[in-house]
Amino acid sequence: MKAWAVVAAGKPLELIELPTPEPKGSEVLLAVTHCGVCHSDVHFWHGSYNLGAGKILRIRDRGVTLPRAPGHEIVGRVVAMGPDAAGISVGDIRIVYPWIGCGACDRCREGQDNMCTEQRSLGVVQHGGFGSHVVAPHPRYLVDPGTVDPAVAATYACSGITVYGAVRKVLPMPPDDPVVLIGAGGLGLSAIAMLKALGHRNIISVDIGADKRQAALDSGATAVVDGAAEDVTRAIMAAAGGQVKAVIDFVNNDDNTASSGFRALAKGGKLVVVGVSGGQITLALSEVVLRCLTVEGSLTGTQQDLREVVALAQSGKLKPLPVTRLPKDEANQALTRLEQGKATGRLVLVSE
Ligand SMILES: [Zn+2]
Ligand SMILES: [Zn+2]
Repeated sequence: MKAWAVVAAGKPLELIELPTPEPKGSEVLLAVTHCGVCHSDVHFWHGSYNLGAGKILRIRDRGVTLPRAPGHEIVGRVVAMGPDAAGISVGDIRIVYPWIGCGACDRCREGQDNMCTEQRSLGVVQHGGFGSHVVAPHPRYLVDPGTVDPAVAATYACSGITVYGAVRKVLPMPPDDPVVLIGAGGLGLSAIAMLKALGHRNIISVDIGADKRQAALDSGATAVVDGAAEDVTRAIMAAAGGQVKAVIDFVNNDDNTASSGFRALAKGGKLVVVGVSGGQITLALSEVVLRCLTVEGSLTGTQQDLREVVALAQSGKLKPLPVTRLPKDEANQALTRLEQGKATGRLVLVSE
């Protein structure tokens, strides 16, 4: 098999030749047809993640060795399987759930691989969708996209379930109560579509860019707030008509995002944090107690979440994210475009 792989942190990806895996046991080998390009791929390419408070997580400390093919928003065609892989046939097109756990711990047995502490994620610890082939350890990691465009379906494996997982942490709530979304980039706009698909009506989007705020309105946000306003909390409450029960932060880069949202929370309110841009927040703990506030992290989602997102898309309720298809041989250009903020919608590498 061939793979566009990270060979050294920050250096251009190189097309390398690797032995094509032979599926054993319950494993399934797929030829990758589509792979979305995610901001995490850019962090992976640079070799580190900014955790905030001066802490850096290096990918080599996560057990990653190079060269490694990134890419975790994968759709592929089944080309071979081990003798114990049931319920799947050669030629089937499947979304590959990439956040694979150890398979043995309680979390994995409950189908919550994203909560496993020994993850073997595709595109991180194992070769991902920038390669010509990937291996799923078991058919339970494969989800049928049905009639959903495979380029769009690929994005559900990360951005789709990330947004779904976050939105589900603030729902159910009355559909006309405001939900505040900080950031109107790819995830923020997907969250608007997801909330609407789930029947929610009052959505306030916060962003520092006028073009992003317009995109949020075009995607169905009820109101927008300038994230560069002098008092963002006050602006959020003005747009919401008071304090709010739910804020989801897709940015988390400095004091203006999570803190501004947190200060807008009503008693019993919840801040869900999704963005990993290295921000930090100071909590007055008595206030957290007296006002019964919650701050909750949200990381990707489960295989069941992926099935539910596909079902929402299949029902026509979930508006598809705009995707731009690129040949897989433009993997380097795709990462650079994403890094420079020049990508509109999701970039998807296609190798058909
Ligand atoms: Zn991702
Ligand atoms: Zn596990």
